[in-house]
Amino acid sequence: MPDKQHQLGFETLAVRAGQHRTAEGEHAEPIFPTSSYVFENAAAAAARFSGEQPGNIYSRFTNPTVRTFEERLAALEGGECSVATASGMAAIYACCAGLLKTGDHIVSSRSIFGSTTLMFTNYLQKFGIETTFVALDDLNAWEAAIRPATRMLFLETPSNPLTEIGDIRALSSLAHKNDCLLVVDNCFCTPALQQPLALGADIVIHSATKYLDGQGRCVGGAVVGSREVVGQDVYGFLRTCGPTMSPFNAWVFLKGLETLRIRMQAHCASAQQLAAWLEDQAAVRRVYYPGLASHPQHALARAQQTGSGAIVAFDMHGGTPAAWKLIDATRICSITANLGDTKTTITHPATTTHGRLTPAQRAEAGISDGLVRVAVGLENIDDLIADLGQGIA
Ligand SMILES: *Cc1c(COP(=O)(O)O)cnc(C)c1O
Repeated sequence: MPDKQHQLGFETLAVRAGQHRTAEGEHAEPIFPTSSYVFENAAAAAARFSGEQPGNIYSRFTNPTVRTFEERLAALEGGECSVATASGMAAIYACCAGLLKTGDHIVSSRSIFGSTTLMFTNYLQKFGIETTFVALDDLNAWEAAIRPATRMLFLETPSNPLTEIGDIRALSSLAHKNDCLLVVDNCFCTPALQQPLALGADIVIHSATKYLDGQGRCVGGAVVGSREVVGQDVYGFLRTCGPTMSPFNAWVFLKGLETLRIRMQAHCASAQQLAAWLEDQAAVRRVYYPGLASHPQHALARAQQTGSGAIVAFDMHGGTPAAWKLIDATRICSITANLGDTKTTITHPATTTHGRLTPAQRAEAGISDGLVRVAVGLENIDDLIADLGQGIA
């Protein structure tokens, strides 16, 4: 592996970055399922513990397989460093717990993952960290919500399920003008389609559970950013408080990264075809997909993403009964709220992911009763269109 990793292309880094071959000469990356590491003698142990000598001590602190995943993901996001976590939620929690304190304030997009909203309102709130939620695409609202105590701006883009786009460049200027960190959950695009750090974000969050694995096997997450912020404060929280990634899961994810770009390109190509087909169906009132010219932020999506992603949402005429009928008529799509899998999934947000909201809250969030979300997998696209077509007919 040459030193100057930044000169290598994405596909090369995805396959090669972070591998440190052992004396066995293995070609594929090994898994190191070990909880602790041994030292030559007592003096070496003391030097390792005092930090005088670098190296492994215990797998809550460092593990070679986990490190390979971290280095590979950091290279793909263009970040100095990354830390792997037990889940995507653990990544968001480690980021907040490592960087914030009582009295601090977060401004967050209101269109974020449900558990993230609950973490902000039910748990961070308990420790005196408040959150104000704003509309993702309303820059004035973000600016108006910032207080002297605001330390962090948080968003996902594209949003779930309506695929609204947040302007990462504009929000990063706003964050930095106000001495805040911009944190972007890059789960939907992955670095194969969008690199938030290059657009000015300070921290990237991942739920590796989704496209980084890409085959629905393991739960994991990561935080990517600078050595100073992520390598010190977020890592410090993780190694002490413990929501670290297992070496086996790290191995699954690091192998997933090798095929990330070609998988994302295939997901995007199928999603684009499906979205275009849906727009022509009389039973469909509206289609939400950033790759369609009809998407209100199509130009912004094209400016900051190299692909439109694989989440397609559409509003059926006829509300919940029509949406349920369509979902139940499918034979290939899996009825599940997960996404980022080779297998296409289909959900009815109003009665599942957004079911706990009141009708008024749902209306404000734009979640209509006829809305259906499809996370397009890697099956044959003609089969998928036929599968949805029999439900729509
Ligand atoms: C799934 C998801 C998470 C949470 O990740 P887990 O791995 O399930 O903990 C966070 N953000 C987004 C956008 C997600 O889709």
